[in-house]
Parts: sequence; structure tokens; C-alpha cells
Amino acid sequence: MINQEREARSCDVLVIGGGPAGSTISTLLAEKGWRVVLLEKERHPRFHIGESLLPMNLPILERLGVLEDVHRIGIIKHAAEFVSGYQEKNKQCFRFRNAFNKHYPYAFEVRRSEFDHLLLKNSISKNVEVCEGIKVTDVEFRPGGQSIVQAISEDGLPSEWQAGFLVDASGRDTLISSKMGWKKKNNKHNSAAIFGHYRNVVRRSGDDEGNISIYWFDHGWFWMIPLRDNIMSVGAVCWPDYLKTRKTSLEEFLMQTVKLCPGVHDRMKEARPAGKVYATGNYSYNSKHLYRKGCLLVGDSGAFIDPVFSSGVFLAMNAACLGAEAIDGALRNPVKEPELMKQYEKMVKRGLRTMSWFIYRFTSPVIHWMFMNPTKKFRMEQAVISMLSGDVFSKSHIRYSLALFRLAYYWFSFIRWRQVLTAYFVRRKAVHQTFAEETLLEKSEQLNI
Ligand SMILES: Cc1cc2nc3c(=O)[nH]c(=O)nc-3n(C[C@H](O)[C@H](O)[C@H](O)COP(=O)(O)OP(=O)(O)OC[C@H]3O[C@@H](n4cnc5c(N)ncnc54)[C@H](O)[C@@H]3O)c2cc1C
Repeated sequence: MINQEREARSCDVLVIGGGPAGSTISTLLAEKGWRVVLLEKERHPRFHIGESLLPMNLPILERLGVLEDVHRIGIIKHAAEFVSGYQEKNKQCFRFRNAFNKHYPYAFEVRRSEFDHLLLKNSISKNVEVCEGIKVTDVEFRPGGQSIVQAISEDGLPSEWQAGFLVDASGRDTLISSKMGWKKKNNKHNSAAIFGHYRNVVRRSGDDEGNISIYWFDHGWFWMIPLRDNIMSVGAVCWPDYLKTRKTSLEEFLMQTVKLCPGVHDRMKEARPAGKVYATGNYSYNSKHLYRKGCLLVGDSGAFIDPVFSSGVFLAMNAACLGAEAIDGALRNPVKEPELMKQYEKMVKRGLRTMSWFIYRFTSPVIHWMFMNPTKKFRMEQAVISMLSGDVFSKSHIRYSLALFRLAYYWFSFIRWRQVLTAYFVRRKAVHQTFAEETLLEKSEQLNI
């Protein structure tokens, strides 16, 4: 319920959430001269998952003026490596220098606590009014497009804000999408993740030290992301039927799961935990709409897709760049708002669609085989590397080569139809198990990170 008594503080744009999406859009709008307020419920630096960035993050970091700073806190990732979980020798390394776009041949692996803090400090230096420890609790949309935002501080002090335009960058809290009833759980991809940081995990050598490793195994897939100070981020993304078998603590369950994937287990023989183990459920979702009059959704607040290709931070920051242009245009010329917002939604959904096609099929035997046996024919390998770089928005030849990759996938699926059907039914059973989330995650353990 909105308190009409209290005097609201006003601004041109109010941004809810100070993750990569929120800080990026705030910085860009403040640079265009708008009075921007950002409310963040936590205090940075804070833990967050999502540590592997993509090459297409580089132009955005450059534009924000933080590329050198990110270089300082991160380690360089030259490639994404995919490994068959049972034979370490059976692996493929997709090097970003072989993508269509040669301008961005590497990316970074970062601790999100440092990365997000850096982006937020950059927003402050660009005149964004950042208020940490303030949680948005309610929003009321006025007919003209303005909104009244209710918030509460960590000391319990309420505040009220009046915004000319509202941006929801609240991540997996999905504040507006949940409030409006737009949020749709993605039943095609019902899974959850368990993850933690470890010391003394075997790293690749030389130039490959910073590469992400992705391992297939029977119940889903693993990631290994090397970070600074001899830390390795290790996580398993699994289907519900497996997660329902948990009878121990998250720490023990993650180590039990590691044992099921010999490739990961071999590298973790001397591993020591370097922090707590986290879990997140309620996995993939999207939102029916990404805007309404005077309000835009960016990043995870609008959609979350499985992180197997490390696309989340890039998609969030890219949406923030597109969103900043759209909001700037709408504030300058309100008549154009519907058209600009529609274009924004179209672009964002296009990127999500391209990534999702691969994600939905990632555990199919045909994609497994195609990734393990990449072909240079029709530049299909180059197209996959470009997709892995995040180059999913350009209209270049990548679209043509990706279309051929998809055709090849359907052809191989046709030839291997028995194997494909068996895998399909196994997966369907695993995914469509009634997923009582509390079997994996006690309420207290479940985090929106
Ligand atoms: C298991 C897992 C692994 C992942 N791995 C990767 C990876 O390797 N690479 C990658 O790119 N992505 C990865 N991701 C995805 C990535 O974490 C997200 O896509 C990314 O963080 C999205 O950024 P965002 O700014 O939209 O949201 P967030 O980073 O979640 O930021 C949202 C912010 O809003 C704040 N907030 C929420 N509600 C409120 C409120 N009511 N009031 C005020 N503030 C609020 C939160 O405190 C938070 O700081 C992974 C995700 C998961 C779950």
C-alpha cells in the first residue's frame, strides 16, 4: 500500500538493482544527462554467481570505461573447453580468436563480488545516485507513465521515490514480472545448480589456464571456472530427478556429485573448500513482456536461461545498452516510446532465442557429438565459436552458418533417431519429475543468486 503522506524524492530514471544490468543502464543514462537513482538491497561487495564473461562483453566494458579495471581483477579466458565427462582426453577447445569477429579474441573470468562492485563504483563516478541497503518493496504505476516506488532500508526506514521512468534490474527476484503476473517458468528446462569455490584444483597450463571447462555427465553438466588466487569455481547443473536423491548437506552432496564425473573428480583430488556451497533452484524462466508504459525490464529480471554458455552477464549488459538508448529516446520524445520499447523487446528476445536453441539441446547426444567433432564445412565451427563469444545480435554470416548448423543437427538426429528418442525420453522423465524444490533446497538454503 502506497503511503501518500510521505514526500517522495523524484528523479528522471529509477533503477531497481545494482547488478551488471542495473549499473550499466544507470551509467549510460547518467552520461546522457538524466538524473538517475539506483536502489540496491544489498551492500557491495557481495557474493554472486556468474563469473565467466564472454568476448562480446569487451566492447561494453570499453564503452563504460572500465576495461582496464576488469583486466586487473580478472584472468584472461581464451577459449571455452567442452569435455566428455568420462574421458578427459575427449575434449574440444573452442578458441575465441577463431570467431567471425576477430576484434575480441578473449574474455575474462572474474569474482562477481569485485566485478559488480567495480561497475557500481563506476556508476557513482558518472553521477548516478546509488543507495545501497535499500530494498524496493512496492511499485505503483501512474496513468501518465510515472511510477511511485516504495522502499525500505536495512534499518527499517521507509522511503518513497517518484520516477519519470522505471527500470527493473532486480535479477532473479523478478520484481515487476512477478508483480504483473508475466513470469513464466520454463518447463523445457527445469533444473537447478549447486556450486562453490575450491582451492588446489588442477588448472590448465599456459595460455589455457583461464579457460572455462564444461563437462557433460549423466545428470546434467559441470562447470569449472578458474579465478585469481588459485580459486576454482565449481558447479553442477542437474535435473530434478537426481537432485531429489539428496540426503546430505549441500557441501557433501556437491562432492558426491563430483565423484560421478571422473574428469572433474580427477582435477579435484587435492581440492579444499574456499567458502560455502550455494544452491539455486526455480531455474529458467521468461517474462511475457519486457516493458509497459514508463517501465522496462533488463537482464535476469526479464528472463533467465541456463548458464551453460556463460551468456547471462553479457545478455544483461547488452540489454542494458539497448535499454538505455530506448529510454533516452522515449524521454526525449514520449510519442516514440511504444515503438522504441517494441524494438528493444524484439532485439533482446532475438539474442535469447539464438542461445536457447543450443541450450535446450545441449544434453542431446547429437549436439554432444557435433561439439566433439566440429567441422569447418560451411564455416559451422566458426559460427559456433561466434555464438560462444556472444555474437548473437549481428546480422553477419554467423546467422547463415548457424542455420546450416541447425540443419545439420536435424539431419544427424534423423539418422540417429533411436539414440535421440531414447535420450529424449530419459531427459523428459528427469525434467518432468514433480520437482518439490524443498527436496533439494531447504528454504533457508535457497538463494536468488
Ligand atoms: C548457477 C548460475 C551460474 C551462472 N553462471 C554464469 C556465468 O558463468 N557467466 C554469466 O555470464 N552468467 C552466469 N550466470 C547468470 C548471471 O548470474 C546473471 O545472468 C547476471 O548476474 C544477471 O545480471 P543482472 O544485473 O540482471 O542481475 P543480478 O546480477 O542478479 O543483479 C540484481 C541485483 O538486484 C538486487 N535486487 C533484487 N531485488 C531488489 C529489490 N527489491 N530492491 C533493490 N535491489 C534488489 C540484487 O541484490 C542484485 O544485486 C549464472 C547464473 C546462475 C544461477
